[in-house]
Amino acid sequence: MLRSVILAASRSSQVERLVATAPFTRDVVRRFVAGAGTDDALRATRELVAEGLAVTLDNLGEDTVTAEQATATRDEYLKLLGLLSAAGLTPAAEVSVKLSALGQRFDERLAYDNARAICAAADEAGTTVTLDMEDHTTTDSTLDTLARLRKDFPATGAVLQAYLRRTESDCRELAYAGSRVRLCKGAYREPESVAYQAAREVDKSYVRCLNILMSGDGFPMLATHDPRLIAIGEDRARWFDRGPERFEFQMLYGIRPEEQARLVGDGYTVRTYLPYGTDWYGYLMRRLAERPANLAFFGRALMSKK
Ligand SMILES: Cc1cc2nc3c(=O)[nH]c(=O)nc-3n(C[C@H](O)[C@H](O)[C@H](O)COP(=O)(O)OP(=O)(O)OC[C@H]3O[C@@H](n4cnc5c(N)ncnc54)[C@H](O)[C@@H]3O)c2cc1C
Repeated sequence: MLRSVILAASRSSQVERLVATAPFTRDVVRRFVAGAGTDDALRATRELVAEGLAVTLDNLGEDTVTAEQATATRDEYLKLLGLLSAAGLTPAAEVSVKLSALGQRFDERLAYDNARAICAAADEAGTTVTLDMEDHTTTDSTLDTLARLRKDFPATGAVLQAYLRRTESDCRELAYAGSRVRLCKGAYREPESVAYQAAREVDKSYVRCLNILMSGDGFPMLATHDPRLIAIGEDRARWFDRGPERFEFQMLYGIRPEEQARLVGDGYTVRTYLPYGTDWYGYLMRRLAERPANLAFFGRALMSKK
């Protein structure tokens, strides 16, 4: 019910105008999104890097339905990577890319070509790309594209979602030397046939996947704000003798900044996922709609910095 209301709101330009002008919204957006332009992204990256954090930048964009939109997204990433490199912010900053924003939904070949151009620019800039993971209907296509990209750009990162039943097996496949894998719980609404539904089941799956990645030969990127999972990550890092150059924690911009600083202070590598762009409305509303529990997630984040 709540999900339907949020989804309806996400499609309403009237609600968008209302939300965009509400004073509360400005605080939410400022807290979770770097700003509208490339300059804002650079400024926020500079601040985070100065605090000892690594960064992965996401150019917000959804509903890419034309080749022109996909090309514009690619070009924004190329521009961003050039500016990051010129500002000396690489390799601390890398980029996260959604294949759907590059045309995956209507032309997989185009999405691959665009992603390849971004990987080449990242390589030139001395940094990396991570392919965000979207809903389960795109998992195979995204992992196939990843495998192709890794032939020339082996440092291209994958994302695996612990809520999917298939993910333990995907972790085993991807736990090889040089393979960067971000492990997250998963943010989309998925059917029971493919995904665990209970939070406890998702958490247990996350721990099983974390064990596979941390005991393997790849480079695990533990993306979570969950204190219990972070503690388990720290424990496994000690157990498997993984120093800060052999795995990292990742969290979203604006969520638990004090915990991010605490981990940096304790010597861990922490990468902040930093979204920017004008399409913030879709970003925030889509997250809420995908998982109404995120209402509490954003609410909690506004109340707390811990
Ligand atoms: C870097 C990064 C990249 C991501 N990329 C993707 C992707 O490509 N695809 C995808 O599907 N999803 C992605 N996600 C989203 C992810 O799947 C989850 O939806 C999101 O991270 C929430 O899950 P969680 O592990 O943080 O735990 P949750 O289940 O949301 O929270 C667990 C516990 O964490 C604590 N907590 C959480 N937030 C706070 C807070 N603000 N203050 C205090 N305590 C808090 C609370 O104890 C809470 O009970 C990404 C997440 C991150 C961090």
